[in-house]
Amino acid sequence: MKKFEYMEKHGYEQLVFFYDKTTGLKGITCIHNTTLGPALGGTRLWNYEDEEAATLDVLRLARGMTYKAAAAGLNLGGGKTVLFGDASKVKSEAYFRALGRYVQTLQGRYITAEDVNTSTKDMDYVHMETDYVVGLEGKSGNPSPVTALGAYHGIRASLMKKYGDDSVEGKTFSIQGAGQTGYYLIGYLLEAKAKKIYFTEINEDHIKKVQDKYPEVEFVKPDDIYGLDVDVFSPCALGGMLNDETIPKLKAPIVAGTANNILEEEDKHGKMLKDKDILYAPDFVINAGGLINVYNELSPSGYIEEKAIREVERIYDRLLEIFDIAEKEDEHTQRAAKIFAKKRIETINHLRANYVKR
Ligand code: NAD
Repeated sequence: MKKFEYMEKHGYEQLVFFYDKTTGLKGITCIHNTTLGPALGGTRLWNYEDEEAATLDVLRLARGMTYKAAAAGLNLGGGKTVLFGDASKVKSEAYFRALGRYVQTLQGRYITAEDVNTSTKDMDYVHMETDYVVGLEGKSGNPSPVTALGAYHGIRASLMKKYGDDSVEGKTFSIQGAGQTGYYLIGYLLEAKAKKIYFTEINEDHIKKVQDKYPEVEFVKPDDIYGLDVDVFSPCALGGMLNDETIPKLKAPIVAGTANNILEEEDKHGKMLKDKDILYAPDFVINAGGLINVYNELSPSGYIEEKAIREVERIYDRLLEIFDIAEKEDEHTQRAAKIFAKKRIETINHLRANYVKR
């Protein structure tokens, strides 16, 4: 892969490869854009096929973080770390302390957190060697309920745009995936008096957990979730679920959930939804609750839950603004969200062109 060409094309700032001879830690940190602030993004541990796959992954994920933070109104840039390895074999105190030492070498240009195959416990080891880590035990805590809360407000904004009324009461929902975020989302919707909720799952324990706690929520088979005649389809499982095959089946006029990269091909499938007059709440905007929450750990006054929750609630206004841009520009909403994020980065960048002594 022609790394410099790729970096130039997408405006990357830095790509750092590191290897620790004591622990065998091998990783890559990518900093995409720090116009708004330090690059923040979790550390993913994965058994990549080769270096190229890992490099592409870290580049793609770091860029996504830039847009996510910018659209969430945070003073953060986009970054990410990937580690090469088998999560069942490589993890140890020394391994994560070695990672912390590399994070420290970036002197705050990059802040890490947990991600796939890394936990808050692992981040406690990272924290022994650097302060540039968030999502620690006893601070902002588990991001998933807050991500679900953000999605709940995003659903309300979507209802407002579609029906001119943001009330969940009397509305119907289908939830794909009742894991860390989907489960909490079901709770928020029931609390707001949703009329009917269907859900699907492939994990027996997760199915049972929902059925035990919320017997009124109806289970359907995974393939049946798309064609239900509901107000909102809420994807909370894996990415790539909306594609050429599934979009034609959709009956819901709104798609709004927590899942990342739910559109298999952003432009093609974003447009397909628009052409079917389905309102799509862009993934990186509606699922930013966890990021907003963890960002609050960096506040000079320390993490204050009420403040973080208030900021998560603003996902509602942000989505309405993005829906309006989409309408005005006659664009699909995923593209409109990118326009919104890029505009914020450009505006803040220009604003800083005047010299001000601090
Ligand atoms: P999770 O793994 O806890 O839950 C996902 C659930 O989906 C699992 O229970 C799994 O069994 C189920 N699932 C997988 N494939 C399915 C299928 N075909 N049909 C039905 N169910 C299926 O993950 P999560 O933390 O809830 O995250 C869900 C999505 O939200 C992911 O895309 C994640 O990247 C995104 N997200 C999560 C957070 C967070 O704070 N957890 C933040 C931002 C984005």
